[in-house]
Amino acid sequence: MEIKDLYVNYKTYLGELKVLNGVNLKVGEGEKVGLIGESGCGKTTTMRAVLRILASNAIIKGGCINFKGKDVLKVEDKELADVRRKHITMIFQDPTAALNPVFKVKDMLGDVVKFSIGSSSEKLTKEKIHEMCLKVLREVALPDPERVLDSYPFQLSGGMRQRICIAMSLTAARDLLIADEPTTNLDVTIQDQVLRLIKNLVEERKLSVILISHALGAVRGTVDRVYVMYAGNMVEAAETNELFSEPLHPYTQGLLQSVPKLTGEGFSEGIKGHIPDYVNPPFGCRFHPRCDYAKEVCQKEAPPFFDVNGKGHEVACWLYGKG
Ligand code: SF4
Repeated sequence: MEIKDLYVNYKTYLGELKVLNGVNLKVGEGEKVGLIGESGCGKTTTMRAVLRILASNAIIKGGCINFKGKDVLKVEDKELADVRRKHITMIFQDPTAALNPVFKVKDMLGDVVKFSIGSSSEKLTKEKIHEMCLKVLREVALPDPERVLDSYPFQLSGGMRQRICIAMSLTAARDLLIADEPTTNLDVTIQDQVLRLIKNLVEERKLSVILISHALGAVRGTVDRVYVMYAGNMVEAAETNELFSEPLHPYTQGLLQSVPKLTGEGFSEGIKGHIPDYVNPPFGCRFHPRCDYAKEVCQKEAPPFFDVNGKGHEVACWLYGKG
């Protein structure tokens, strides 16, 4: 899948928020890609655009999302349903909000099972659906799946709810899994288990993955390539080890330095300032009001991506190109 020059605005009472400002991202077959950046920088908006599940006040201003030769933004509803049913799926960050509180797990999961193989000619009996639901719950290592199926979401723990969401996503996914901060709302001890589970299932099924996470350690241990996003722009992309050992963009450097260490060095100062106002975002490089290295050109012209080593380490910063 390739996202090219994606622009998305949100209409609000304050004016139009120019959130995505020409986003580019690519994920190959079987590739695992990470997407990192502060809250509010457009990561979730980008991924919601892929499945065309943006909020009703969002306007796609330009760009395309190519998946297997077709622009997902332009396909008809029937084809879009097919993409969601068979090809691309998403795990959301809040499992409590992702599950309907008035339905039992068996009803929700049963619907997903039916939907995901809806075009199959096989006639599904109630027993067959029940059996398939049990199978997917076992795959996500949920203990006592019979009891889980007969429960409402509030009768289960956060970790169990997220496993159900993972089960639902993986029932449908054939090609690409988007995991949007899948561990944010979970205990630290459960986070590790859930990430491991996603990693194993993805490897078993040979899926491509886009992992959005604030847990940089988890990203480092899971993905092949990392994209760094700031204020609606991709600012750096590189192989995982290279990005973590040699971050080039001033924003990436600040982001990695902001991670609290367990070595008694205290807390870093983080990155000064905050994400810009999207109604009137800064001209040129959107990071320039927070950047210690900003020069004149940074305030006038947005930097393109420069490939700094000829091997795909790309950075959108005038420090690495003509400017
Ligand atoms: Fe800083 Fe300029 Fe690079 Fe933007 S383009 S990160 S302002 S040096």
